[in-house]
Amino acid sequence: MFFKKMGLVKTAEEIELLRENNQLVSRTLAELAKHITPGVTGLQLDKIAEQFIRDHGAVPAFLGYRGFPNTLCISVNDVVIHGIPSAVALRDGDIVSVDCGTRMKGYVGDSAYTFAVGNVDESVMQLLRATKESLKRGVAQAVDGKRVGDVSFAVQSYVESLGYSVVREMEGHGIGTKMHEKPGVPNYGQRGSGKKLIKGMTICVEPMINMGGRDIFQEKDGWTIRTKDRKCSAHFEYAVAVGKEKPDILTTFEYVEEVLKQKGNLI
Ligand code: MG
Ligand code: MG
Repeated sequence: MFFKKMGLVKTAEEIELLRENNQLVSRTLAELAKHITPGVTGLQLDKIAEQFIRDHGAVPAFLGYRGFPNTLCISVNDVVIHGIPSAVALRDGDIVSVDCGTRMKGYVGDSAYTFAVGNVDESVMQLLRATKESLKRGVAQAVDGKRVGDVSFAVQSYVESLGYSVVREMEGHGIGTKMHEKPGVPNYGQRGSGKKLIKGMTICVEPMINMGGRDIFQEKDGWTIRTKDRKCSAHFEYAVAVGKEKPDILTTFEYVEEVLKQKGNLI
């Protein structure tokens, strides 16, 4: 089959290696959840993540990727994605998207979670919940015979019904031995359109949802993506294998949310 030839359909063994990586990313995010509090800096979190990943026999997949300088993307408030960890302390009321990647046994992991730092305004908490829910709705479409547009539509229709907007310039992607493989997985689109999803394809679904308008710009550092109107943006990401009847989600937020529950900080 054409997709098999292109390497887009993975074997059961390859899916297990992807699961191993994404489970490690999930555990890394949970380790970070313990430390995300007002006063901590992005660079401190970055160091914790790098150590944790290396201690578990993997290497940080983002470090050095196209010249990216760190282990994590740390995107605070109006930063959508690709924020570079800095020495600036997180403040009470911030939100921070932490995007993390690993490489081990020839495959990669890539997942993200947006955390509330201390007490966050209820309207921003609603954005976080809606973005996470849109991810779940998108991923639910990762079933054999559906199309990429079904995932996109599920995300877009849900968040737009709540008055939020979808970033269009950045999108999810296939994942395997490389972090970014085909197909692209936009967070907007029409039902029944786009590439067909086939059992065994592995994709990252990662809605980037803005409180205000959808427009973004890139900072001069060549990485940081920010909302034009400077309103908050949220980002959650799962890696998932397309299943016959239901999606096989390779990431879990269970470990993160266990920590957040203990901290009384569940979004
Ligand atoms: Mg990511
Ligand atoms: Mg990704």
